[in-house]
Amino acid sequence: MTADDRIPRLLPGSELTNFPPPDRWDDWEEYDASAWPERVKRRYRLVPTTCFNCESACGLLAYVDKETGQVRRFEGNPAHPGSRGRNCAKGPATINQMYDPERILHPLRRKGARGSGEWERVSWDEALDDIAGRMRRAIREGRHDEIMYHVGRPGEDGFMDRTLKAWGVDGHNSHTNICSSGARTGYAMWMGHDRPSADFANARFILLLSAHLETGHYFNPHAQRIMEAKQAGAKLATIDPRLSNTASMSDVWISPWPGTEPALLLAIARLLLEWDAVDHDFMRSWVDWGAAVAARAPGRGARYENFVDLLKETYAPYTLEYAAEECGVDAAGIEAVARGIAEAGHRFSSHTWRSVGSGNLGGWQAARCLWFLHVLTGSVGTRGGCSPNSWDKFKPAHWNMPPPHSRWNELLWPIEYPFAHHELSFLLPYFLKEGRGRLDVYFTRVYNPVWTNPDGFSWIEVLTDEEMVGLHVALTPTWSETAWYADYVLPMGVGSERHDTHSYETHAGRWLGFRQPVLRVAGERDGQEFERTYEANPGEVWEETEFWIDLSWQVDPDGSLGIRRWFESPNDPTRPVTVDEYYGWMFENSVPGLPEKAAAEGLTPLGFMRKYGAVEVERDVYRVHERPDSSGVEVDGRRRVGFASPSRKLEWWSETMARWGWADEAIPTYLKTHVYWRDLDLEGDERILLPIFRLPTLIHTRSGNAKYLYEISHGHPLWMNPRDADALGFATGDLVRITTDIGHFVMRAWRTEGIRPGVVAASHHLGRWRLSDTLGNERWSSALVDIERVGEGRWRLRQRKGIEPFPSDDPDSERIWWRDAGVHQNLAFPPHPDPVSGMHAWHQRVRLTPAEPGDRYGDVVVDTGRSFAVYREWLGFTKPGPGPGGLRRPLWLNRPVKPTEDAYRM
Ligand code: SF4
Repeated sequence: MTADDRIPRLLPGSELTNFPPPDRWDDWEEYDASAWPERVKRRYRLVPTTCFNCESACGLLAYVDKETGQVRRFEGNPAHPGSRGRNCAKGPATINQMYDPERILHPLRRKGARGSGEWERVSWDEALDDIAGRMRRAIREGRHDEIMYHVGRPGEDGFMDRTLKAWGVDGHNSHTNICSSGARTGYAMWMGHDRPSADFANARFILLLSAHLETGHYFNPHAQRIMEAKQAGAKLATIDPRLSNTASMSDVWISPWPGTEPALLLAIARLLLEWDAVDHDFMRSWVDWGAAVAARAPGRGARYENFVDLLKETYAPYTLEYAAEECGVDAAGIEAVARGIAEAGHRFSSHTWRSVGSGNLGGWQAARCLWFLHVLTGSVGTRGGCSPNSWDKFKPAHWNMPPPHSRWNELLWPIEYPFAHHELSFLLPYFLKEGRGRLDVYFTRVYNPVWTNPDGFSWIEVLTDEEMVGLHVALTPTWSETAWYADYVLPMGVGSERHDTHSYETHAGRWLGFRQPVLRVAGERDGQEFERTYEANPGEVWEETEFWIDLSWQVDPDGSLGIRRWFESPNDPTRPVTVDEYYGWMFENSVPGLPEKAAAEGLTPLGFMRKYGAVEVERDVYRVHERPDSSGVEVDGRRRVGFASPSRKLEWWSETMARWGWADEAIPTYLKTHVYWRDLDLEGDERILLPIFRLPTLIHTRSGNAKYLYEISHGHPLWMNPRDADALGFATGDLVRITTDIGHFVMRAWRTEGIRPGVVAASHHLGRWRLSDTLGNERWSSALVDIERVGEGRWRLRQRKGIEPFPSDDPDSERIWWRDAGVHQNLAFPPHPDPVSGMHAWHQRVRLTPAEPGDRYGDVVVDTGRSFAVYREWLGFTKPGPGPGGLRRPLWLNRPVKPTEDAYRM
């Protein structure tokens, strides 16, 4: 038995293979392509790890040159069950990130005022002593809420959860409310699980409300399976106002007004009901229809037929004609999608994640309406259908797990947002300004809120105020706009320089991946010894796992705070646990089948994971809800697993929402967006801006040092339909002033039929900047800028120069030919917290006018006072808790680092 019996092997008697076979990974020989036409042989040790350049967590194989000890390139890991040896362009670009000549290689401490840009090199011990000392004081003095860990790209499952529990701190903050809380809320209200896992490979009809062939959660593993399905005859439909690469590969592309998508989906639901393309057996068994009838049609009997009647009555207004008019699309396209879904039945797959859910007030209803189509067709948990994500994600146990804490941090989980799927992270500056709390030790970890979040100038205002933020520690693999405002910049490893585990819902199966520092692993195989990963990585680049272990030890060196015991070695409690001990325990004790697979190859479970980088845990996972479970829900006379909702069934009617004051939104419905097209002055200069599409070849803020990627993607135009361009008088290349609620920015127009009229779009992947010519961001990708306060609360960012060649150890830096760093549009967006999901509604209502005299490309001008006023305005949309039982939040609704039940009560 091997890691996966699909791993390619050499054919007997042949030297041909599409991947090096694993039994030769320790000594692989091949010709050096760059030496051509000479035939120069090189010998490599191939070490698997996991890409860290998006959330897909694809497998990589590092080619470690046996002569130089350096990594020469990365390719796909064929033993990885999710990615199966395939990567997008960002995976192999890990090599750029490792050997970027401008990389931060050592811990840095600021010297002058915060944000002044003066730094000194310090040792890891000095940094740990200082940070730990401050944390120790805060914990001793009961100021636990002043310690906050704010993560951008987590990439790992569970280690930080246990670390925060060990500290007893409710301090987990994330980026999720600027990313995916909208869709998560829509799914969670149906079933508790907060995302779908589509079995694309076996689908007959696939509906995407996303650009999922090119970007997004698990897109590479998904895209390869979508293409397999297409090759087998499946049809693909995409709903997106923009002609993405995905839309261009689809059989049907529908381009609706942004935010109207739920109306379109409900028209499909109405058609399915009208055609009776409904799986009544599934619905009767697995929808909590009794509660729905009692609440929405009291007086009618508790009969399933009454529920179906209720559905038909509720969605009667969503005729094809209404949806076509409301969404601004052809009725025929909607009907074609409905037919495709009806014909596919159980083999209907779909996906939505950001897009409509992240762009609009009420956008979370798009996921709610999309899942409704699966419920109607019974394509839940089926082959070719969609499952809840947690069925296809493997969560191993962690060694020595601390119990939950019993605190509730109002800076993260404010009373106004009881349903917010994740922390109200992007409102932190306003909460601090309002005096809701302060931070003593604030960690940003692979997170760049100054650049990524809306209204970055408000972030700069609070990060430069030491009363609000006592100490800011940036754990980051690259420079970033936020790291510039840190007290410590601590260099952390990219995917090939760190340990962690992860598992994602890439298909109808479960697997566990193991990221590992490839130079350390290769060195150890050569007999070298390392105590810490920074001894093997470039410079003193470290990894978070060892960093948190050592920091926690330093916070509580004598064990008196009760923290150290969670980090003591099981073999020698006088020293910290090692990564081998930690992950060795996990692989031996909590991964079914792994010990046996390892033993079959004469390996320990840890040795097996170090060899292959991943293990398949279960294949062909379907219909988990039907599995027997003595503590589950009774269905058809037997107790079964069911779902994670309060009723353990699928909830068309959410009693929770109704009881907390949101009865009107408790069913799949259509809510008007804040950028509703009928409210716009479309005859004048108002339009809708879509600012959230990704480019397939860039990473949010971590590709700045990836020269391969920036050579491919460096233009940043404003997509504009020729009809709008003609009406407003813009030619391609003209400077446009785009005015938002809090300021404006200046970009260049690009006339394209790839966007619907009335809507303009700009990717959120460009517009990086730095304040010093040689520090603060990578010169491959960032503009040199000045930031000025031009009045009370008024800021202006202006570019001094774009991208230019520069001298370095890498001769390629002198060959840079691209110049455009793009425009940092997020700075000019106010916060738009959705009152239910907590998601920032990214789309903007903007005015498009010609640039004014004095305007320059890349200018951004913002009034943070106005931004604060918009925050207060949207706060007014909320219905603050406590809810029934004095709860801050429904107990069943998930949240990271979940505290004890006591903490939920006011
Ligand atoms: S999709 Fe690309 S960037 Fe994302 S993990 Fe896979 S290879 Fe890396």
